[in-house]
Amino acid sequence: MLFPPSPFEKRTFNQQTFYLKRDDLLDKDFSGNKARKFHYFLTHDFPHIKRVVSSGSNQSNAMYSLSILARLKGWEFFYVCDHIPQFLKENPIGNYKAALLNGMNIIESHTREEEVQNWLDEKSLHVNEGGRQREAEEGIEILANELLVDIQTHNISNPYLVLPSGTGTTALFLQKHLPFPVFTCKTVGDSAYLQKQWAMVEPTLRCYPTILETDKKYHYGKLYVELYVLWQRLKEEMGVEFDLVYDPVGWKALLEHISSLDGTPIYLHQGGILGNTSMLQRYARKANML
Ligand SMILES: *Cc1c(COP(=O)(O)O)cnc(C)c1O
Repeated sequence: MLFPPSPFEKRTFNQQTFYLKRDDLLDKDFSGNKARKFHYFLTHDFPHIKRVVSSGSNQSNAMYSLSILARLKGWEFFYVCDHIPQFLKENPIGNYKAALLNGMNIIESHTREEEVQNWLDEKSLHVNEGGRQREAEEGIEILANELLVDIQTHNISNPYLVLPSGTGTTALFLQKHLPFPVFTCKTVGDSAYLQKQWAMVEPTLRCYPTILETDKKYHYGKLYVELYVLWQRLKEEMGVEFDLVYDPVGWKALLEHISSLDGTPIYLHQGGILGNTSMLQRYARKANML
């Protein structure tokens, strides 16, 4: 056990009660959800490991969290990106800036997974994009157990949990360890792909998370005025800042389906606020152009 349990709060939005599990407040350095997913690496010793290698987008929360992990462990950190815009290279912000300050070595390559292989040796730990791996289960099971205590402490009847998915790893392992429904939505790829991934990781699970579809299709990391407006309303009415990549889609999916969902909603805030500086900058530039 590395982090003390994250806060659990009762809030109102749209004249409706929501409970929030505040994994954004889990630790000041880690993005909440990645602290759970990398718990295993934090709490176990890897005496032969000298380097961690991963890949993904240039503003990824996982990238930033791995830079913290590497710093704590005294490992080198190599991270492979498809593309780093010139603008970002000249004006580093958000997760990209913070990860560089933690000593990240960034490699730009259009053949990302092949390039990753070039940096791996017997002293390297390979972490899949977004932390999609088995080891994530350990920290996510701890989160599930915290939620069971929170629900009992607050006397919540008929709970259900809602969280947006990237790789779907967090939703899958939460559903595995929770006796009530876990609802999620996709932000990357399509729902069939998410379900196929789950079936591959946990072929014998009795119950998988339920995917809530949004009326409109949202593309990962793109800007949508209605999502920005929703994010702003959540911030004003609840006094909570959510992440701008995943959470607006998560809340949109929840609000579109809430009238047909039975029980008391708990929303999992998975952190990622550091990434908001770059999203806000992009929204501001878009507003200027309009
Ligand atoms: C990584 C991340 C997710 C997605 O988690 P998965 O386990 O890949 O589904 C959601 N929200 C935030 C803020 C994240 O950083």
